[in-house]
Amino acid sequence: MSASNHRDQALQQLYPQMVEWRRHLHRFPEISYKEKETSAFIAGVLQDMGCDVQTGLGGYGLMVTIEGESEGPTVALRADIDALAIQDQKQVEYASQVPGVMHACGHDAHTATMLGIASYYMQQRKQLSGKRRLLFQASEEISPGGALPLIEHGAMDGVDAVYGVHLWTPLRYGQVASREGALMAAADEFTIEITGKGGHGGLPHDTVDAIVVGSALVTALQTIVSRQVNPLHPAVVTIGTFQAGHTNNIIAGHALLKGTVRTFDPKVREDIHERIVAMVRQVCDLYGATSTLDYRMGYPPVVNDAAETRRFYRVGEELLGSQAVETSSMVMAAEDFAYYLHHKPGCFIFVGAGNPELEAHYAHHHPRFDLDERAMLVSARLMTALAEDYAAYPVV
Ligand code: MN
Repeated sequence: MSASNHRDQALQQLYPQMVEWRRHLHRFPEISYKEKETSAFIAGVLQDMGCDVQTGLGGYGLMVTIEGESEGPTVALRADIDALAIQDQKQVEYASQVPGVMHACGHDAHTATMLGIASYYMQQRKQLSGKRRLLFQASEEISPGGALPLIEHGAMDGVDAVYGVHLWTPLRYGQVASREGALMAAADEFTIEITGKGGHGGLPHDTVDAIVVGSALVTALQTIVSRQVNPLHPAVVTIGTFQAGHTNNIIAGHALLKGTVRTFDPKVREDIHERIVAMVRQVCDLYGATSTLDYRMGYPPVVNDAAETRRFYRVGEELLGSQAVETSSMVMAAEDFAYYLHHKPGCFIFVGAGNPELEAHYAHHHPRFDLDERAMLVSARLMTALAEDYAAYPVV
């Protein structure tokens, strides 16, 4: 039997266990930065396998490094462990038992898959060349996220390549997809406070009208994407809230604007940031108002390494057939997997988990979100195949 057939068979045997782990995690979800019991559960399962587990990394993050008997590269595989503040509305026996909290993004399945991979590598230690580092990252859903502190704790130290998957219900079960370069967007947020001079509605010459200043600013900001960003680079500048004033005959002295910026290209992202800083200052100056700008960089874009994305296409086709492997569109959601790719080459991949027959066709973060659990097995097969391909052919 070939190595890959042997691997698939071993993972297949672990699949019922992955389902059991996933359903346990699904029943007892915990939100970002509060994954205490989740982390303890993962640590317990890993310790029972004989793993040497590092815990408490970046909040409740964990990692385990499994060392083979022969020399070789270190390949990191990443799962995330947190849930969302959403009330589960599914009618299934494994529905969330925690009011207002739910695994509505599939991180429970990512974790269960990675536990399956850990079990496989512990069984196969003697045949393994190099090291496999398995990351169970906390707090992906809320920026600043758990990836950066996990990296500060050494997650990428000595690593040669890093892979991660997201089970994805917009993609049908059986399909896998990724994209060279930018795959997922950067999502930044800003708050602008404009201070003018309030006064009588009939005496505008004695005031600085914060609504007029804010309106001019909103209009100016809308020209960033339409007139200053190359139309071939996707970008969004949205003002989501504009609060000012109280009543008909009083000129508002204050205005509060909040918005979000979505980009893929790091240069476009930085240019938009700079333009917003300049426009807020200059437009407010122009009208005699003062301003403060609180601009928060969220996760950077997920930018896949070219060679490692080609590896995904090749390994994916060998494993699942050419029909199953797709080039993904760019996705406007953000992911802190981006940070790992700042340190090491790698690839982030969508694994199809959508299946209308199983009611697994709701969008991520929907209260009825569910997935085709067989996608966990596809994920485990794909991630281990990528890691073993890297170990055999580090340079492609
Ligand atoms: Mn997610």
